[in-house]
Amino acid sequence: MAEQKGNISIHAQNIMPIIKRWLYSDKDIFIREMVSNGCDAITKEKMLLPDDPCDYRVTVTLDAKAGELRFNDNGIGMTDEEVKKYINQVAFSGAEEFLKKYEGDNKGGIIGHFGLGFYSAFMVADKVTIHTLSGAKDAQPVRWISEDGMSFIMEAGDRTERGTEITLHISEEEKEFLDEYRVREILKRYCGFMATPVYFDVIKEVPEVKAEEETTTENKDEESKTEEAAPAEPKGPELINSTAALWLKNPKECTPEEYKTFYHDVFHTYEDPLFYVHLNVDYPFNLKGILYFPKLTNDFGTREGEIKLFSGQVFVADNIKEVIPEFLMLLKGVIDCPDLPLNVSRSFLQNDGYVKKLSAYITRKVADKLTGLFNTERENYQTYWDDIHPFVKYGCMRDAKFFEQVKDTLLFKTTKGNYVTLSEYLSKNEGKLGKKVVYTSDPTRQTASITLYDAEDIDVVVMDALIDLNFLSFIEYSAGIDDLKFARVDADSDTFSKEETEEEKKQSEEKAKTLTELFTAATANKDLTVKLTALKDASLPAMLVQDEQGRRFSEMGKIYGQSFQMPERCTLVLNTDNSIVQSVMNGEDGEKRNLMAAQLYDLARMSTRPLEKEEVTAFLNRSNKLLEMLCK
Ligand code: ADP
Ligand code: MG
Repeated sequence: MAEQKGNISIHAQNIMPIIKRWLYSDKDIFIREMVSNGCDAITKEKMLLPDDPCDYRVTVTLDAKAGELRFNDNGIGMTDEEVKKYINQVAFSGAEEFLKKYEGDNKGGIIGHFGLGFYSAFMVADKVTIHTLSGAKDAQPVRWISEDGMSFIMEAGDRTERGTEITLHISEEEKEFLDEYRVREILKRYCGFMATPVYFDVIKEVPEVKAEEETTTENKDEESKTEEAAPAEPKGPELINSTAALWLKNPKECTPEEYKTFYHDVFHTYEDPLFYVHLNVDYPFNLKGILYFPKLTNDFGTREGEIKLFSGQVFVADNIKEVIPEFLMLLKGVIDCPDLPLNVSRSFLQNDGYVKKLSAYITRKVADKLTGLFNTERENYQTYWDDIHPFVKYGCMRDAKFFEQVKDTLLFKTTKGNYVTLSEYLSKNEGKLGKKVVYTSDPTRQTASITLYDAEDIDVVVMDALIDLNFLSFIEYSAGIDDLKFARVDADSDTFSKEETEEEKKQSEEKAKTLTELFTAATANKDLTVKLTALKDASLPAMLVQDEQGRRFSEMGKIYGQSFQMPERCTLVLNTDNSIVQSVMNGEDGEKRNLMAAQLYDLARMSTRPLEKEEVTAFLNRSNKLLEMLCK
């Protein structure tokens, strides 16, 4: 074959600088593109010769001394006509087409995973060489060289084995791609599950001094000899994709052990997942994958998930939120959609009907898994609940369809450690509470208030996760139950009050007005309101309650960084049947009465939360004074 020179495309001059700039942050994809081209070539060869016992493989060789990365495959190879067609025309026209399509799109709008393929080599190389020999009858080896991605030289080559080797001479600015660890990491990430074995071979320089030493130390004993020779010994090619793509296997044939091991390998953890969903459909779209529910790693109900998106076993990216519903990002897993149009911008994906269907399907499968567990393995499901509830709740608030599917499987954990659904809670406690659900946001600090409900045999549910404050309001609004209300253990004293006649109520209100003055002065809390009522338990002098809605509002404000502190608008409920209260109500003005009022207030406060530092000091001093008075 006579040497040929040529220009790749008249427009290529314009493409190169722009592509280089655009792809800046995603440069490492060139490795994936080179390896996947090798795999494709092998797949094609296998189709031509299905029974060929060839040891098919792609080998990536790092030769840092030569400044080269080489991608070798024993696939179909290319004839000179094919190089002209597929490399000079197709590969480069692909790049040109890409440019036309996304002209004007800003970099952030590009997914960074388009089929730029072969051309991506020029992002990092200042010289690209193809050595190829086609398996076709009488084919001659071809060498193709391009230094700039714009012009090329093609000549007769000397390759003797069928297949292709692409050599990238890495440019000065991109030396990081000659670093062994960097290249291995990229290979593992992108090529870890490819269908063809991919090997990584690092050519190590043999230090010259060592080599000399070796020849002169022949009479050293065996042990020290091997020790000294060790660093120079080549390791040999290392298999990159040693873990099989479990998601492609028929779910019926996968064992729990396999799912676990796969999870450990892929996510580099020793933890076991709680359970998993294996997605496997061919129609109406091709989607395979495994989603794992991980254990919670901290108390805050938040966690970082990780969902790896593959396209035909080739890794594309982590956590592409356009394809995977955002709330599912709390899970860990792999999703493989070979037909996904990934070579497009993200804004396109967002509006794509196909992607929407995919995402809806994934959500439905996850919901199916939850309802399935709830219906058939309630006990197990309950043991998972502490770990999965933030995810499920978040999902409900984000996705109405998901909520619709899982709403009957939502559990509430009681302070006694039982797990009940909303309807189970209501049917058990409705006689005493109506459509009210009593909850605690902090079982330790609110323990005294919880005890009051325990005495009435009323369940208190624990809502102490970060998400719960929002979730309460969401459920009240969305559960479709009229008058459904969540009330914290200290939200009111209704459950503990005796029935009162209208007349009694009126009298109490009158008296409460004067007592409010006394208590606001004695406690130095000018926002305090006093209410008089007869509590069922005469021994309980007072309760401090805080209106549910107002409190939630101010808590929301705190979460969202409101700068001013809302005043604690509390109501002190005084038990008119209690002798201490009666003594304060009917007592004379004076120090003793003030001290008693303040003491009652603190005692009530202590059942809703522990006192703060200064409050404790005041409480102790006052207690001492009251005891002194008793002694007189
Ligand atoms: P794509 O892989 O999407 O077709 P590429 O730009 O990656 O686009 O490659 C262009 C074409 O070049 C391929 O379709 C293939 O025909 C040819 N090619 C590239 N690399 C190889 C290879 N290692 N062996 C055989 N053919 C190859
Ligand atoms: Mg390709």
